[in-house]
Amino acid sequence: MSKYIASKKGPKKQPSEVVEKKPTTFKKKSPIRKEMPVKKDITFKMGMTVSDLANQMKKPAAEIIKKLMFMRIMASQNQEIGKENAELIAMEFGYDFQEEVITDLSRFEEIEDEDDPKDLVERPAVVTIMGHVDHGKTTLLDNIRNSRVVASEAGGITQHIGAYQVKRGGKAITFIDTPGHAAFTEMRARGARITDIVVLVVAADDGVMPQTREAIDHAKASECAIIVAVNKMDKVGANPDRVKQELADLGILPDDWGGETPFCNISALKGTGISDLLDTIQLVAELLELKANPKRNATGTVIEAKLDKGRGPVATILINNGTLRNTDVFVAGAVYGKVRNMTDDLGEKIDEAAPGSAVEIIGLQSVPLAGDPFKVFKEEKTAKNVAETRADRIFDESHSAKEPLTLEEFFKKQGEDTKELKLIIKADVQGSIEAFKGSIDKIEVLGAEIEIVRTGVGAVTDTDVLLAEASTAIIIGFGVGVPASVRALASGKGVEIRNYRVIYEALDDIEAAMKGMLDPVFEQKIIGEVEVRETYSVSKVGTIAGCMVTSGVVQKGTLAKLVRNGIIIFEGKLGSLKRFKDDVKEVRQGFECGVTLENYNDLKPGDIIEISAMKEV
Ligand code: GDP
Repeated sequence: MSKYIASKKGPKKQPSEVVEKKPTTFKKKSPIRKEMPVKKDITFKMGMTVSDLANQMKKPAAEIIKKLMFMRIMASQNQEIGKENAELIAMEFGYDFQEEVITDLSRFEEIEDEDDPKDLVERPAVVTIMGHVDHGKTTLLDNIRNSRVVASEAGGITQHIGAYQVKRGGKAITFIDTPGHAAFTEMRARGARITDIVVLVVAADDGVMPQTREAIDHAKASECAIIVAVNKMDKVGANPDRVKQELADLGILPDDWGGETPFCNISALKGTGISDLLDTIQLVAELLELKANPKRNATGTVIEAKLDKGRGPVATILINNGTLRNTDVFVAGAVYGKVRNMTDDLGEKIDEAAPGSAVEIIGLQSVPLAGDPFKVFKEEKTAKNVAETRADRIFDESHSAKEPLTLEEFFKKQGEDTKELKLIIKADVQGSIEAFKGSIDKIEVLGAEIEIVRTGVGAVTDTDVLLAEASTAIIIGFGVGVPASVRALASGKGVEIRNYRVIYEALDDIEAAMKGMLDPVFEQKIIGEVEVRETYSVSKVGTIAGCMVTSGVVQKGTLAKLVRNGIIIFEGKLGSLKRFKDDVKEVRQGFECGVTLENYNDLKPGDIIEISAMKEV
């Protein structure tokens, strides 16, 4: 303490200087002192807040906040700083930056106790229906669900959340509503074991077919119980004994032949035998003694996930254990989230989901993959850490650092026999990705190749940019938004993001670049971004959006892309631009303005409008 008081008299000193030892009467060297250089290292840890960093640097948090403000980053001291920002701050203050190496992920995962047997209660069995195409899987699922949406395959709309429950005699059975093997295999490939029982549908008039065998292999490999539903018993030519024999030959021995597998004769179309089948499922479920602990935090599996235009990322979660509640924080795969809304298979809003049930949730930061593990965390910070660490790991595993390039530069690359154009594709729907991939395969240019590094549904993210940088890839977006922060990161890293509305335009550009003919003189450049805060409906004018210019500038007559939840929902011209009541030519960042979009009125608070203008490149 006295040292600090003494220092007040002299010129202001840094704390590191203050602790300097005064010469002692004993001229003995202190080995400890000698080995302690002034601390100039910053170790970044996942979830590090502004004040954590300040503590490491022995600087007031306000100083860091001020520096961040200069970098146009608004952060409070308890906010997470993020690796990029921490690195920049460390550089600013002359510190060496390093990242904590995490080898053991489980350190972050809250270790939970084994379930106390007292807490275990019976849970519904989870059933998947499998079998050869056209043997009646969909018809059976629909019959059980008591709906008539089979016609959907002929072009209608199937409303489903990926799973549904049937209650009989006070007990529930959960059916995974994805007939077919692809989904099952995909989930299994990702380590998810979600099904307790496989109902193998075999048409009585057709017998065992290739996909029947495939289904048996899948079911056996995942150690599920099997129940055979011999379907289409109403048909002339139905021969259940032949089905039994064929299956027995494959090692699926019927229980009435001394084996273990129950067989039920049904007609999914007429609805006969279904009740028996459900009884059998319940019987098998009882034998399996399926138990779960509703008292613990939920763990589960992502069954389906998509980007919904209105609601953002949506996922159906099958709860394996525990109870999921509204506002729970969770990680699904490498995606962080907080349950904002839960609906059951009937579309009813619910506050709690029990083990063995499936719910559709919103509140995810992006779209996870089917089969991803789902887990609720007590601490929001831990959940974020786990998600970030997983995302980083995926990123690290896939790529190593190389020089970034742009589409224009691609052809200029010298000294390589074959030039490889790497692409990251982001689209609003999976279909666009598939279509694009299909068309890209058809582009043939001598001496040039295309490699698709990553594809994904949803807005372009920081991770995409980092991956593009690491793998020298170009990001191609179809109908997706690029948040201003992501754009800034990309421009800082020299990563090119090209957003297209239609696939053929992208294909044209790519082909031209591969041939070295890409020579755009003018290009649409994003010059600003505004956020819709309020909307007003005015007759004859339409919807006026009260906006804040969150980055860059908005100018009259420019092009506007309306982005909702990461998806571009409208592209057109900016109508009017006003400051209060006056028409103005431009409004800069940090100011409010009123805008209209030409021929478009569906504006909502929270929407982002990307403003672009034609600029010479
Ligand atoms: P999936 O490909 O296995 O999902 O088979 P679907 O459920 O789409 O059924 C294929 C066709 O078989 C459809 O035309 C159904 O109407 C028909 N089908 C399904 N179950 C039965 C049944 O029990 N009896 C008869 N006669 N036809 C059926």
